[in-house]
Amino acid sequence: MGDLLKGISSFRGAVFPTHSALYRKLAREGQQPHALMISCADSRVMPETITQSGPGDLFVCRNAGNIVPPFSTLNGGVSSAIEYAILALGVSDIVVCGHSDCGAMKGLCLPQMLEPMPNVAAWLRHSHAAYSIVCQAYPDDLSDAERVRAVAMENVVVQIDHLKTHPSVAAKLATSEITLHGWFFDIETGEVQVYDGVLARFTEVQEGEPLPVAFTGRGHPHVMPRIAAALAGE
Ligand SMILES: [Zn+2]
Repeated sequence: MGDLLKGISSFRGAVFPTHSALYRKLAREGQQPHALMISCADSRVMPETITQSGPGDLFVCRNAGNIVPPFSTLNGGVSSAIEYAILALGVSDIVVCGHSDCGAMKGLCLPQMLEPMPNVAAWLRHSHAAYSIVCQAYPDDLSDAERVRAVAMENVVVQIDHLKTHPSVAAKLATSEITLHGWFFDIETGEVQVYDGVLARFTEVQEGEPLPVAFTGRGHPHVMPRIAAALAGE
């Protein structure tokens, strides 16, 4: 705890004064973050550091395994954070960020690890689809490390699908007001790979190139145009 106290003291004495105008503005006007980031609670994955974001930039929700329970299965913190970020803060982007060497994904691959942790085991059922995909659709001869990495990547895509079951997300997708992103952070190299929903694979971010996205309402046949066409008698 001594290090934490030293950190607070250093923040107050050296860091805060250089940003005090920004903090005052945020205190006066409230927050207007542009994105909701759902990432793992892993201490090595720091959303603000990875994206070089400052105070007020990101609305962050962290949990073991960067999981988004499907709507209505659990009335919990993640569902509330999503609803609040969209309806109260008006975020235009949601990022699900997985990472390498994820303990939660290792737990999925080695269920005996979870025996003394019934809550973790129950929480990770929201990621079983990712494990199932890797078991059945990937080569059998993956090493343990490759398997954990594949499950972590598939888990990002599974959680993006869960996001779409939340009414607040579904409605904003239908009106093209929100974009969903899937990222994968490699702890060892610092690299962030981005899920390209059109190519259905993770790609490296190229500076100056448009950022691939996992899912966007734009260009997809949604309920509104369909109903509009029906009303128009087409
Ligand atoms: Zn993790």
